[in-house]
Amino acid sequence: MADALAIAGLETFVVSLPIRRPHFWAGLTATSGQGYVVVKLRLTNGVIGWGEAQTIRSWGGDDASRYGETPKTALAVIHECIVPALEGVDLRQFEQVHAAMGRAVRGHPYAKAAVEVAIMDAVGRSLGLPVYQLLGGLFRDRVPLAHSIGLMDVKAAVAESVQVVEEGIRTLKIKIGVELERDVEVVRQVRKAIGDAPDIRVDANQGYRTWREAVSAVRRMNEYRIVYAEQLVDGVDQMAEVSRHCDVPLMADESIWTERDVVRIATAGAAQYLSCYYTKPGGLWKAKRLLTVAGAHRMLSDINGSGEMGIGNAANLHLAAAAPEIVLPGTIPVTSTAEVVRTKVAGRKYLDDIIREPFVYEAGSLRVPQGAGLGIDVDEDKIRKYQVA
Ligand SMILES: [Mg+2]
Repeated sequence: MADALAIAGLETFVVSLPIRRPHFWAGLTATSGQGYVVVKLRLTNGVIGWGEAQTIRSWGGDDASRYGETPKTALAVIHECIVPALEGVDLRQFEQVHAAMGRAVRGHPYAKAAVEVAIMDAVGRSLGLPVYQLLGGLFRDRVPLAHSIGLMDVKAAVAESVQVVEEGIRTLKIKIGVELERDVEVVRQVRKAIGDAPDIRVDANQGYRTWREAVSAVRRMNEYRIVYAEQLVDGVDQMAEVSRHCDVPLMADESIWTERDVVRIATAGAAQYLSCYYTKPGGLWKAKRLLTVAGAHRMLSDINGSGEMGIGNAANLHLAAAAPEIVLPGTIPVTSTAEVVRTKVAGRKYLDDIIREPFVYEAGSLRVPQGAGLGIDVDEDKIRKYQVA
C-alpha cells in the first residue's frame, strides 16, 4: 500500500463576504454569511485541501438538541480537539477519520465537516480523483436549484421571485413561519405574479407554535399549489401530527442531523422528504451514509445549506453528484465573483467569493465541477481581503 497521508499543517481563517441582500429565516438572529470558517490543510505529500463551515449560533436541532456553533467555537474545536485526534491517522481511510474525530469531541458537526471536506479535497487531489468519485462516483452531472426567498416584505418577495424565474429558476422556496396571514399572503401574491408553472415550496424553520397552526397554514397555502412544506414545527411528535393531517409532503431539516434521526423521523411518519447537506452530519462521508439510510426508508432528499461560499458549494455539488437520493431541487447558492457574474439574483447570496472560477449555471441548474478534489481554485488573495479573524 502507498504511504499513508497525514496532516502536515492546518490553518484556519474566518471570512465575511459582501452580501447581495440580508437573508433571514424564522429563528435566525445573525446575518447569515458573516463569519464563516475556512480550513487550509497541507498533507505530508505537500498537497493542499480546502474546507469550509457555516457556523451559525442560532442554528440547531429540535428542542435545542444540536447546538449552534460560532467561528470561535469551531476554531477551538478544530485546533484543540480534531487536529490532535487525527495525528497518526491515514487520512485516506474516511471511516477511521470520522471515528477519530468522534472519539475526540462529541457534536460540533460543522467544525468536523470543515476539516473532513479539506481532507476529501486533499486526498482527491493526491489520487487525481474528483471528490464525487471518492463518494461512489458520478450519478448526475448537474443539480437543479431552488431559489430561497428569505423573510422579507411581501412586495420585495414578489419582485425577487419574478426576477429569478426570468433567470431560469423553476422552484421557489419561500421562508414562512412568522405569522399565518402574512405567510399565506406572500405565497398567494408570488403565485399570482409567477404564474402556474414554477413550483413553490415553503420552509417555516420550526416557526409555527403548534401543529394545528401548521396544518391550517399548509391547507391555506396549498390553494396556491405548494409542492411540499419544510420543517413547520419543532419536534418529531408535532411533525407527525402535521403529517397525519396533511396531504402535502413534509420535509425535515432541523430534525435530521444523524442516521439515527432519519430512522426516528421515518418510523414516526413525521416526514417523507429530508434536507441534507455536508455540514449537519459532520462531513461528506457521513452525509452520504445518512442518505443511504433515508433511501432505505423511501425518503427523498434535496440539498440545501446555510449560504455557503464557493468551497462549501463545491462540497455540496459533489455530494449531490454522488447521491441518487437527492432528487429534489435545493438551495445551493449560485457562486459569482466580482470578476465573473453568473446570475444577477438567482441563487446569488454574495457579491464576491473566494474561488476563482464560479460553477456553470444553466437553466436553473448548477453543473458539478470536474477535476481532482473539489475541482476548484481557491483565491487566497480574496481570503486575505475578506478575512475578519
Ligand atoms: Mg430548511
